[in-house]
Amino acid sequence: MRTLLFLHTTDFDAKEGFELTLEMKLVICSAFVQITFGLRQDVLNIFNEVFVTPTSYSYAGRAIFYDGDVNPFTQRVNLSWPAVEKGFIITDDGLNIAIHEFGHCLIIENAKRNYLARTFNETDLNTWKALAIKKIPAVKAGEYQIFREYGGTNLMELFSITIETFFEQPHEFYSYSPTFYRMTAKVLQQDPRNSKNPKELRNG
Ligand SMILES: [Zn+2]
Repeated sequence: MRTLLFLHTTDFDAKEGFELTLEMKLVICSAFVQITFGLRQDVLNIFNEVFVTPTSYSYAGRAIFYDGDVNPFTQRVNLSWPAVEKGFIITDDGLNIAIHEFGHCLIIENAKRNYLARTFNETDLNTWKALAIKKIPAVKAGEYQIFREYGGTNLMELFSITIETFFEQPHEFYSYSPTFYRMTAKVLQQDPRNSKNPKELRNG
């Protein structure tokens, strides 16, 4: 089972004094499994440490507070538990921090993998990027209403925000932009609108 495989290949750690339960770990694992359900990649190779905090956190000397981030230097995924939990309790607002951060991990790992072992089909991902890059100005301006404005920051953020919306609001996303929705489904090799068999991709 993919969830258990991910659980066993990931080092979970928590801020001192915060008890990270097995249930919490499983919730975090489920986000990764949800994204990769249709893909061959079923574990992370670089980012296999997940650090969980009881509140939002900041880096030393900085005033910005985070609910999650992927740190390429420590090769660690940091997540604040209240934000993770909220992401799964409210399932239809397009916000899911665990999906968001694992989205970053997959894009980074994909780029570092050997051509033949890529996470995503190269052609599909390039087609996705070509569509996505054209949307950035509108997303940034708040005119592409299915995505929050932060998605307009860059392609990396737009990918994560797209997949949050893809899993949380698949029908709305499809109605808003069928072509971009279908391309996202192709990249991830699944279609959440098809709850009985998400791996079956629809043409419409
Ligand atoms: Zn991000």
